[in-house]
Amino acid sequence: MESEILKIICANQGSVGHQDLIYNLCPGDPSRVSELIGSGDRLVLCTVNGEQRVVARSRLFLCRAKDCPGGCRGLHLCRGFLLSESCPFNRRQCSFSHDLSSDHNQRMLRDHGLQGLSRAELCTLQLQSDHTLLPQVCHDYNNGSGPFGVCQDGDGCKRLHVCERFISSQCAGAGCPKSHDFSDPQPLGVLHERGVPDSLLRPLKSAYANKAALWSADKLAGRVGHKFNSRQDAVQMAGERGRPLDGAARQRDHREGLLRPPQLLQVPGSQVTGHRSQVRERTR
Ligand SMILES: [Zn+2]
Ligand SMILES: [Zn+2]
Ligand SMILES: [Zn+2]
Ligand SMILES: [Zn+2]
Repeated sequence: MESEILKIICANQGSVGHQDLIYNLCPGDPSRVSELIGSGDRLVLCTVNGEQRVVARSRLFLCRAKDCPGGCRGLHLCRGFLLSESCPFNRRQCSFSHDLSSDHNQRMLRDHGLQGLSRAELCTLQLQSDHTLLPQVCHDYNNGSGPFGVCQDGDGCKRLHVCERFISSQCAGAGCPKSHDFSDPQPLGVLHERGVPDSLLRPLKSAYANKAALWSADKLAGRVGHKFNSRQDAVQMAGERGRPLDGAARQRDHREGLLRPPQLLQVPGSQVTGHRSQVRERTR
């Protein structure tokens, strides 16, 4: 069931509401979802803007060694192929594999409980899990009032000049002088330099928000310092409460309109929003 949940989460931009997951998978039995979340570290319960969300993460990383003999624990996959299924080199000239179904890669995917994920699903998962894939958001740009905040590097900065509060959906927008668009010249230049294709611009906001949510969850759990997360990776989630919702808090949040009714989730392979019975069918 966990790998099906991973596919559903990847089809929903890397995270889903905790209540939505229960509503779609096992209504009336939240303990089943809790069990799955507690059973490993691929499904992480995070508090984002007061809402509990289940964010997916993997511990699998791309092997960077050219001509690796294969004794490593990394995925043997070309970065460009992972990100967009296209590579500036053709298959023959590229030093890295374009074959997700090779024996080595299938073994690595199985070992990490990621078997059955498509290239696109794996890409969604890795964008928010592997801190080497995306450039960091510039924290200095977000601090201070000038056009570049306190960032000394201006437009030449190698980190993204994008509003952190926009990423965490906390920016009111009007009057904010920071960039709210990954395709603005500075962020686009940094992304292109890192080989991030234009096709990924749209899902970037959720990838960065999920990275930040994972960092915050690790911090709460005392796991910060883990090599896969760093302070620089994180966009601090303004408004994050950092606690599970107890019954009273849940009722209050309902009154304040912070909680919404459960939503049907997007199911992989379907064109329309998933139907609950269809989701359950697929997760048996
Ligand atoms: Zn290797
Ligand atoms: Zn390649
Ligand atoms: Zn900067
Ligand atoms: Zn803003």
